[in-house]
Amino acid sequence: MRLAERMDRIGESATLKVMRLASELKAQGVDVLDLGVGEPDFPSPEVAVAAAREALAAGFTKYTDGTGIASLRSAIAGNLAARYGAPWKARDVVVTVGAKMALFHLAMALIDPGDEAVIPSPCWVSFPEQIRFAGGAPVLVPTSGADRFRVHVEPLIAAMTPCTRAVILNSPSNPTGGIIHHEDLERLVEECARRGVLLVSDETYDRFVYPGEPFASAASLAVRFPETVVVVGSLSKTYSMTGWRLGFLCGPPALVRAAATIQSHSTSNPTSFAMKGAEAAIAGAEPYVEAMIEEYRARRDLLVAGLDALPGVTCQPPSGAFYAFPDVSGTYRGERRGSTALAEHLLREAGVAVVPGAAFGNDDHVRISFACSRATLEDALGRMRRALTD
Ligand code: PMP
Ligand code: GLU
Repeated sequence: MRLAERMDRIGESATLKVMRLASELKAQGVDVLDLGVGEPDFPSPEVAVAAAREALAAGFTKYTDGTGIASLRSAIAGNLAARYGAPWKARDVVVTVGAKMALFHLAMALIDPGDEAVIPSPCWVSFPEQIRFAGGAPVLVPTSGADRFRVHVEPLIAAMTPCTRAVILNSPSNPTGGIIHHEDLERLVEECARRGVLLVSDETYDRFVYPGEPFASAASLAVRFPETVVVVGSLSKTYSMTGWRLGFLCGPPALVRAAATIQSHSTSNPTSFAMKGAEAAIAGAEPYVEAMIEEYRARRDLLVAGLDALPGVTCQPPSGAFYAFPDVSGTYRGERRGSTALAEHLLREAGVAVVPGAAFGNDDHVRISFACSRATLEDALGRMRRALTD
């Protein structure tokens, strides 16, 4: 089969691959704890389910406006205005088939062959792949476990060249949980504006910030820098609505129009009745969201303490998101060297699925999702202890 040349530039998503392998093993009857994929275990909010069900029953099953139903766009804009003072209105929002599709549209709209996107690293697997798919080059800028992967502005500015078209920020970060502080973010946006570079801020985990950790949203700078700031968000994590496939982007009018044009030739619109459910979630699920976030905090504390106590493992608490990113290089020995070998060992010997840090750009770490129950985490910690002390 002769495939397009661009297919040589990307491979299967490493996170989805771990999920696939874990479910294949489960289907064969193997007892696997899947701490690989970042997928909340909570049911979607009842208000969202009821609204989607009603919409289906009422026949809300046709094509919609290509950028998503106006009432949902308005709810998203209203939410960002209330939380962060963002200036956007419904017309500045494109609802997409997950945040992943929003980021894909942005890569397609912004990146020509030879263009560069600056990305703090370790980073989520799809950022560099989408840039490569568009023909551009990701420029990865390391962050360090020494200060819990905080994103600093100076190395990002130093990595910019005349070819830089965008900086892709993800605070809190998947996989590290690191964040950017307000003063760094402000300076970054100012510098992007000066150079005509877009700041694409993926705020999928904006609600998952742990007590005492300062979080800054780029949406709060969009009033001052309307031509520079693009915010991407997701319903998947905040509302535990992964399978509904709903995300969004907001930003400069020309870019919003470009994303809408791409959408008009790709997905047309997100699923009609799912959008009705999302609207109800934004309006009515806040107490549910807060309870989920509180539970994630308890899981984080349990998992981080448990990992840090394992032989050869050191784990710092993530500032946000729901992943632990422990340094596991102290467990490497003999054949079992590197994060891929360790992840394979944990899957084979302990039935625990984790994602190798190499997939995110750091081979000394693995990523462990705590979007699962405390009982599962305790079980996994016990199994890992046994597998690491054999
Ligand atoms: N951005 C980041 C940083 C993520 O971790 C994910 C994973 N879900 C996404 C975007 C995509 O989210 P969605 O399910 O809305 O496509
Ligand atoms: N974002 C989640 C993860 O990193 C879901 C899988 C994906 O889309 O990559 O595990």
